[in-house]
Amino acid sequence: MPDVFKVGTVSVSRGEIQRGGIPIGADMYDRQRLIPIIVYHGMADGPVLWLNGATHGDEPEGPFSIFKALAQVDPQTLRGTIVAVPVMNVQAFTAGTRGDPLDTFAYDMNRLYPGKAEGYTTERVAFAHWQAMKDQCDLQIAIHSGGEHSYLAHMIFASDNPASLELAAAMGPNWSLVFRSGTGGGNPSSQIAALGKGGITVELGGNCRTLTRDFHTVADDLAAGYLNVMRHYGMIPGTATYAPAWRMGYQIALLSATTGMFVGVADIPFETLIPQGTLIGQIYNLYGDVAAELRAPRDGVIFGLRSRPSVLEGQWCCFFGVIEDTVTNLIPGR
Ligand SMILES: [Zn+2]
Repeated sequence: MPDVFKVGTVSVSRGEIQRGGIPIGADMYDRQRLIPIIVYHGMADGPVLWLNGATHGDEPEGPFSIFKALAQVDPQTLRGTIVAVPVMNVQAFTAGTRGDPLDTFAYDMNRLYPGKAEGYTTERVAFAHWQAMKDQCDLQIAIHSGGEHSYLAHMIFASDNPASLELAAAMGPNWSLVFRSGTGGGNPSSQIAALGKGGITVELGGNCRTLTRDFHTVADDLAAGYLNVMRHYGMIPGTATYAPAWRMGYQIALLSATTGMFVGVADIPFETLIPQGTLIGQIYNLYGDVAAELRAPRDGVIFGLRSRPSVLEGQWCCFFGVIEDTVTNLIPGR
């Protein structure tokens, strides 16, 4: 581990915190634009952990949970390094939209990694972030939520290599749903995993849970996960805790059969096994008739639900998880 850790505009010595950014070209006033970063460089050697928030600009859970987690870390006792990127896609976050509204050709930043130096606007942002991260990252957590139209419960998409599955398990007791995703795909977790390192995408929250106390609850929950990860890898003092077992499987996106108003069933349980055929929600027409129903296609768990009632035929209503396997062996030697 270097005595001075350098990333973007930041040079940080052992035991220090520095802030700065990853340069991404100029704005209309010819000022240097930056992806803001906060770097904690520990006194002792350890892994380099990247916390990546708000790839999608309508998902503020990333930045808020990162702020809460960093407030509990002392660089004097830290082993290793934390590179926090509260908001990766500043243009999208500024607009409060999933992607940069000025970039209609490369809208979804979570589909185009490792980016392109001479690509569309968002591809260049992804490229700059990837170049800054790829050679000095051991563990990467990308933080997502249901954003503007949905709510997502605790779910981890872990890239399918041992380092990523261990990282997923290290998120702690609230995170028992871990679904494998491919390596080498268009998102940063997948790209980091293709280098043999740990990369996960965690999902929790949505704009329906950003009001006062509820937003704190969601962000505290996420922050507790990152701190548990730091304990697991010996980065901060304390003992990590774990889910008793991990439920692994695959997701099915349940789409609306018609256009209208989607309303989920009252008290429908998240993350809990429900039988095939269970009523999940109803879509009303504008006369108050139930025009379509949404039911569980298999035995499985609901881990995401639409929170914006207006819906078009073919739009997303529910992320449904089918559990194929329950395992206890994601952490080597444990
Ligand atoms: Zn997202």
